[in-house]
Amino acid sequence: GRRPLVAGNWKMNGTRSSLQTVEAIRDGLAPGLVESLDVLICPPATLIGSCVAAAYGSPVAIGGQNLHARPSGAFTGSISAEMLADLGATYVIVGHSERRAYHHETDDGVHAKALGARRAGLCGIICVGETIEEREQGRALDIVRAQLAIGLPKGATAADTVIAYEPVWAIGSGRTPTPADIAEVHASLREMLDKLAGPEAAKIRILYGGSVKAGNARELMAVENVDGALVGGASLVAGDFLGICAAY
Ligand code: 13P
Repeated sequence: GRRPLVAGNWKMNGTRSSLQTVEAIRDGLAPGLVESLDVLICPPATLIGSCVAAAYGSPVAIGGQNLHARPSGAFTGSISAEMLADLGATYVIVGHSERRAYHHETDDGVHAKALGARRAGLCGIICVGETIEEREQGRALDIVRAQLAIGLPKGATAADTVIAYEPVWAIGSGRTPTPADIAEVHASLREMLDKLAGPEAAKIRILYGGSVKAGNARELMAVENVDGALVGGASLVAGDFLGICAAY
């Protein structure tokens, strides 16, 4: 079986006082739980270094929310995978729908960034997901499969790749797809992953994200082929995030 991953994406939230949240998550994880569960927090870049220090020696991993594809250069304001790794980050989110919507990220750009993550030894969490219009047009599976086919670099392994299915309309909305709809998308992504990554595909995790809360985590995480959660709003409060982790 695939070891589940519960990942928090803080988005553009958090100042130094938010280190208390990381400490509370670190201290609140039951030792028995983390024997079978990976836990990750992706704070804003400004907090990565201090979060790594706060989580040092604990099972909590720290990751970035975005990266530039190149290792260094004249790209004002950008941060490379090597810089994230240098701070002690071990994961990075790639192609989140907010990056696609507000920063015009394309599937080709996602591919380049995923390669950048691998180059620096980070695990890239490649995000895919349809809009509400695409779902209503019956195109959800076509959209996410194409996003995966273009975004996923050749030779992806479980060490350098996690997939996250985040329907755009479920993010921050309090709405989630039905378990049957999630199962359909995850089965389709897994079939695609088998084609793209060969025997390694069976080891690559596919997370669900979009309005995951402590109250619905158990139901969502029980869906076939759901190997964990990518959590936005509910990852900002330690008790809520720990409640989601406890769903395992
Ligand atoms: P919410 O959990 O706030 O819906 O956000 C999901 C998300 O975008 C995680 O990356």
